[in-house]
Amino acid sequence: MSRLLTAVVVLAAVVISGCQSPVAPVIVPSRELEWSNPGSRVFAASVERRPIEYTVLGTGPDVVLLMATIHGNEHAGTDILRTLMTYLQVNPHVFDDRTVVIVPLTNPDGLAMNTRTNANGVDLNRNFPADNRLNNDRNGMSGLSEPESQAIYDLIDRYKPGRIITFHEPLNCIDYDGPGLEISQHMAQYCPLRVKKLNVRPGSLGAYAGETLGIPIITVELRRADGRSSAERLWEKYGEMTVSAVTYPLAPEGF
Ligand SMILES: [Zn+2]
Repeated sequence: MSRLLTAVVVLAAVVISGCQSPVAPVIVPSRELEWSNPGSRVFAASVERRPIEYTVLGTGPDVVLLMATIHGNEHAGTDILRTLMTYLQVNPHVFDDRTVVIVPLTNPDGLAMNTRTNANGVDLNRNFPADNRLNNDRNGMSGLSEPESQAIYDLIDRYKPGRIITFHEPLNCIDYDGPGLEISQHMAQYCPLRVKKLNVRPGSLGAYAGETLGIPIITVELRRADGRSSAERLWEKYGEMTVSAVTYPLAPEGF
């Protein structure tokens, strides 16, 4: 925890020094949230002031953003991305010409409460400023009304990823928005999930990134049972597929 607390103190100092941010220097750690990757940085805080962390590996021109658990009760992807970070640190050649941006836990309050929504009861995956968004209590009364969705919006704006991979449950398929069909097909070669185009949800990240911005975005819908699997088992099933999203259009090696 010490590294995490240090990061929060630094963040607090930035806030106090006048940076425009709603972040307050208070966090409420829980057992699930005590994990902190050595290379990770805190870049935002949730409604309940839990840290939202991301890790950047590499500096190359091919930028991929991977994120998980924007719905707090769909957390298998967090385990997969934490294992991916370890894998990449052991296999740094994978990000030789790439920049890999990883947000393993987008909605820490939802994870702590085991809810789909954030602490304000808003579905973060309906809170983006997509052309098709609908304002209401559940989706937020305006786009980016929530700090967690604002954080992802800022990250996309800063790194301008060439593709985005986001993990959900439990629809058992690989969905895509925008020009993501070829990447979906590439990833499906390396796991049991099949490509299936689902409807574009109003104000979803898929609608915003894929349809409004034109960035290929892949929504990996894991199986319901995956939510009860160990991190080791999840990596056995989905590790190669996850790495293939990084190496696209090349095949992952060494599995
Ligand atoms: Zn979901």
